[in-house]
Amino acid sequence: MTSLDTVWVFGDQLNRAIGALSVARPTTHRVLLITAADKIASRPWHPARVALYTRAIEAFASELRDAGFNVDHRHAASMRDGLTAHRAEFSPASVFVTEPNSFTARRLVTELGCEVVESNQFLCHPTVFNEWAGSRKGFKMEDFYRWQRKRLGYLMDGDAPAGGEWNFDEQNRERPPKEGRDRWPVPVDIWATTRDEALQRLEFFVTRVLPMFGPHEDAMLADNWHLAHSVLSPYLNLGLLLPAEVCDRVEAEYRAGRVPINSAEGFIRQVIGWREYVWNFYWRHMPDYASLNHLDARMDLPPVFTGDAPTQMRCVSSILDDVRARGWVHHIPRLMVLGNLALIAGVNPQQFTRWMWDSFVDAAEWVMVPNVIGMSLHADGGKMASKPYAAGGAYIDRMSDYCKDCSFDRTKRVGEDACPFTTLYWDFLLRHADRFVKNPRMSTQVRAAQKLGDAEGVRHRASDVLRRLHLGQI
Ligand SMILES: Cc1cc2nc3c(=O)[nH]c(=O)nc-3n(C[C@H](O)[C@H](O)[C@H](O)COP(=O)(O)OP(=O)(O)OC[C@H]3O[C@@H](n4cnc5c(N)ncnc54)[C@H](O)[C@@H]3O)c2cc1C
Ligand code: SF4
Repeated sequence: MTSLDTVWVFGDQLNRAIGALSVARPTTHRVLLITAADKIASRPWHPARVALYTRAIEAFASELRDAGFNVDHRHAASMRDGLTAHRAEFSPASVFVTEPNSFTARRLVTELGCEVVESNQFLCHPTVFNEWAGSRKGFKMEDFYRWQRKRLGYLMDGDAPAGGEWNFDEQNRERPPKEGRDRWPVPVDIWATTRDEALQRLEFFVTRVLPMFGPHEDAMLADNWHLAHSVLSPYLNLGLLLPAEVCDRVEAEYRAGRVPINSAEGFIRQVIGWREYVWNFYWRHMPDYASLNHLDARMDLPPVFTGDAPTQMRCVSSILDDVRARGWVHHIPRLMVLGNLALIAGVNPQQFTRWMWDSFVDAAEWVMVPNVIGMSLHADGGKMASKPYAAGGAYIDRMSDYCKDCSFDRTKRVGEDACPFTTLYWDFLLRHADRFVKNPRMSTQVRAAQKLGDAEGVRHRASDVLRRLHLGQI
């Protein structure tokens, strides 16, 4: 028998339709999957993340065996060792690999002499993005999104956007509903590890949850971890689901009249807009981007994040309980509570990125770094977001039910019971007034901060809050 070529599949490319594997056949190719011990041991990953990755790889190996492939699923000390041992045992003429999803892995496969095949895992390949971005000075997500809509044809009626508008965000920022808070169907609370299971989760989302996706997209509730979010990010990031099939399914429900346009558009915007934008942002700006610290934020990661100290901030404790339980919370707790706290407290961006990356099941460098450094902490000086997502207790109170049972008072910025978010928000504006007063989206808030009669009191309380945050006493 002539020797087979090898297709090396990384653990976040678990789909037979992706790149090199899409053209592989059992008669001509063997598939290599490597579970690398150094990667698993390298960080204090969330146990759910380790279980999800290892089981998903095992399940994919069996799926490929059932399809007739010779599969070498190797447990090795490192990726490099795994490939070396595979080559020694099977002597493949060529090792094909689909462009990996990180700089480090791309460097590795090139060094190891693999034949790299272009990836189709995302809808907009970086070469296509670069043609669009060209020499533009800035490239806004909204412009990219509309270009994607037209190019890919999602929710288009001829040249016009379906429903007559490109954007229904105004309808999608409603407060949490007063009645019927239990009306969102509960997703299965164990992560799916196979493509079949992931497809079932997609079906559940599209048929049961999607009609309600839009209006309360930004709401947070202490006793409801999912609301009307899809909870599909881990499957998209592992390759178990592909972005086109997810969007096709959502569009089909809209066209069948079962889903309103604001929900369909709101969801498709996340996938073909934000997700693809972030992916391309990564390739355009990394690796230097990860070490940016534009606001010169120096505080060490406070112990509350790592679970080494309890907190009386009800929003933070409730969200961290959810993160510990399943390694996932939706976008607004990530951005407007955890990220916001790190931003206004001045937590070092690299330490916060690392903690987020360790703590979430859907984390990967390409998605975590731009979301934390750019969107959340403004550590890139505004390359991604034109203003920092800083907010006080009033915002959290409007969009959640945390504040009513909290020992702090979200309306107060000074005094022992002042809400730490409210104090630190005003202090943040004062600290960075020179930088943000010229920003048209921030100047009103900065000027309001500069007119505060109790600015000294705010500064004093803020330094006390920061000291206690550092000591794990707040
Ligand atoms: C500080 C911070 C860190 C984040 N870290 C991650 C991460 O490590 N992994 C990750 O997948 N997402 C990350 N996100 C983006 C977003 O919060 C999650 O994708 C989303 O909450 C996942 O839940 P869902 O599947 O229910 O999403 P939905 O609300 O149902 O949205 C649908 C899909 O859109 C995509 N999406 C939406 N927003 C973004 C975004 N900003 N960036 C990339 N994809 C997006 C996701 O694939 C998501 O599954 C982060 C956001 C912030 C603010
Ligand atoms: S009062 Fe402040 S700390 Fe307490 S839940 Fe509200 S925002 Fe969070």
